[in-house]
Amino acid sequence: MSQTSFATLPLKPELIATLDALGYTQMTPIQALSLPIILAGQDVIGQGKTGSGKTAAFGLGVLSNLDVARFRVQALILCPTRELADQVASDIRTLARGIHNIKVLTLCGGSPMGPQIGSLEHGAHILVGTPGRVLDHLEKSRIDLTELNTFVLDEADRMLEMGFQEALDAIVSHAPAIRQTLLFSATFPPKIQAIADHIMQKPQLIQVESSD
Ligand code: ADP
Ligand code: MG
Repeated sequence: MSQTSFATLPLKPELIATLDALGYTQMTPIQALSLPIILAGQDVIGQGKTGSGKTAAFGLGVLSNLDVARFRVQALILCPTRELADQVASDIRTLARGIHNIKVLTLCGGSPMGPQIGSLEHGAHILVGTPGRVLDHLEKSRIDLTELNTFVLDEADRMLEMGFQEALDAIVSHAPAIRQTLLFSATFPPKIQAIADHIMQKPQLIQVESSD
């Protein structure tokens, strides 16, 4: 077994089986560097260019922390746009296909409110959304984050460029203080370090070939 085989990781057997079936034999560099730390429960800042495999890095972390028998929101993944949120939700569902009855819900701006509120009332294990809409639901107490264990910021650089800093801070104020926070980004501007300093606990910084 090579050093970058997923089988070296302490993953649930159903996740290893799905990775095998997907033909994911070797971890990408950002996965190989970040997953051992993520699976140990630590906060991680992962920087890698587009296509480096960041979704599976945080996705496997989210799915490892998840207890599907508890039908409560256990992970919140924020993305800058609806297209990215839909893609992440689809990728997470694919990675989770060996875990039965898992519910992944997307919450994006631009979608009609009524059906979204209805879906929230039915419950979910994992929420994937854009910051404005997620905050809107939180402020109206439509999301309960009491059992949140994993908070993910995907494409954090783009979320900050789009002016979501205040929404992110407000969302964090609704999350439990004890949680794992994972932040992924294509670039690492000073603003990322600044947000990490106040929302993360001793994050490990993993950088693979920058896209700058
Ligand atoms: P990023 O978010 O870093 O831009 P993605 O997570 O979207 O990148 O991954 C890019 C592509 O690589 C996707 O099509 C994904 O399915 C594929 N991929 C990710 N990890 C692996 C892997 N270990 N082996 C093979 N393909 C992978
Ligand atoms: Mg990505």
